[in-house]
Formats: sequence, C-alpha cells, structure tokens
Amino acid sequence: MRKLIVFNWKMGPPSLAQAKRLLTHNLQQTIKNKNGEIVICPPFIYLSGLSSVVSRQSLVKLGAQDVFWENRGAYTGEISPAMLKNSKVDYVIVGHSERRRHLGETDEMINKKVLAALRAGFKVILCVGEPARELRIKNNELRMKAAKNYVKNQLERDLRGIHNSKFIIRNSLIVAYEPIWAIGTGVPAEPENVREMIQFIKKLLITNYHLLIPKVLYGGSVDSRNIADFLKYPEIDGALVGGASLKSAEVRDIIKIVSKHST
Ligand code: PEP
Repeated sequence: MRKLIVFNWKMGPPSLAQAKRLLTHNLQQTIKNKNGEIVICPPFIYLSGLSSVVSRQSLVKLGAQDVFWENRGAYTGEISPAMLKNSKVDYVIVGHSERRRHLGETDEMINKKVLAALRAGFKVILCVGEPARELRIKNNELRMKAAKNYVKNQLERDLRGIHNSKFIIRNSLIVAYEPIWAIGTGVPAEPENVREMIQFIKKLLITNYHLLIPKVLYGGSVDSRNIADFLKYPEIDGALVGGASLKSAEVRDIIKIVSKHST
C-alpha cells in the first residue's frame, strides 16, 4: 500500500525563494522514490508561487494548512475554499492543534471547515488527538481508554452532519491522529499505542461515518529516525510531519524510508 506523507511547513520558511528551494529538493527526492504519496503544506502566501513548480509533475501535491468555511463575504484575513481551488491545492489540513490552542478554533468552527472543504472537493486531513492530561495516567490501558474517549468525542463534534450531505464525498476524509503532547516535543507516541488508536479510529469511521476504506495518519515528532517504527504497521497509512519537514536532509531520508514501506 502507498503510504501518504504530509509535510506541514507551519510558519516557515521565511521567504518564497527558500520555499521554492525546499520544494525543489523535495521533488528531486520524490522523483527518485516514486512509491509514496507526498503532500507539501506551505503557508498560504507561498501557495500560488509554488503551484507552478508542482504542476509540472504529479508526484507531489499541494496542501493548505487551513481553510475558511465561506466562499465569499466580509471575513478579514480568511482564505476561502474557492481561492485554494484556484491555487492548485488538493489537500487541506483542518483542526490542527496549534490552531485550536493559539487561535481559539472550536470544534464547531472545525466542523464547518470540514464540511465546506469536503463540499469543495478537497481531500481533508482532520487533526485530532488528546492533550497532555491523558498522558499523566500511568497505567497504559487506562491511558489509552481515556485517550480513545477524548478522540471519539472530538470526532463526533468535528464530523457532525457529515452523513447528511449528498454533496460530500466522505471518502475524501483523512484523519491525522496527533496526540498534542507529542507535537513538537521530540517525544513521539509509542508506535504500538498509535496502532491501537488508529485501529479504533478506523472502526469508528467505518461504523459511525460509513467511510469505506478510511485513511488514518500519525503525527507527533516524526522524523527520519523513528518514521519506520510507525510505517511498518499496515494500519498506519502514513505520517504528518511538522518540524522535520523544514530540514532538507530529514526530508530526503524520510522520503527514502517511505519508499521502502510503500508497495
Ligand atoms: C504537526 O505539525 O502536525 C506536527 C506533528 O509537528 P511535529 O512533527 O513537529 O511534531
């Protein structure tokens, strides 16, 4: 199975010239290693500048780090689904924990974004994951139970109404399981626990949301040293990579490893 790797550039790099260099480097690696599916999510301001580089080939796709739920109106600073469509964007990340935490995004807002983005025809990467509070539970079984409960509730709120619209292609939904305590900390979750959580999420997506073949990624301090520990499990469909995605050597090594784990 082809693994999907999403590189989230967050708020970097600082200039379009650097963004182009980083993307070109990614492209060269990807062309040599054709097996995985690679998505680059740069800041909005670089999307149109990078779309011409990406459109020359089809191995790398562009993603946005967020999207607004309305296509027009007085919403200062927001980016609409229609604008992203015109910038050759195929994927959008919705509900990243940094937006939930620093920008006060609520599940209600995230739900509107998920519905609008699916309706617009994007592949939507919905980020969910439990906070550090759950990590303090020392017993692994109890900790996993609390984490699953948290994620189940989050999915219920973020995916409300997803069954009701005939305009929505539910199978364009991808979930990224990203425990908040693992993001940007250098301490990833235990791969075996991630596998268990992803199995749980997939079951929910099939049973409660009628997805046919759900895709679930893992994110949280993934780098070239640990990515194989996650990708070796068939249940884990890929990874969302943050910090490491701005380091060329890391990207090169990650893409090589992804290639080995994709068939
Ligand atoms: C992310 O941005 O979603 C992420 C997982 O970041 P990092 O890889 O730096 O933990």
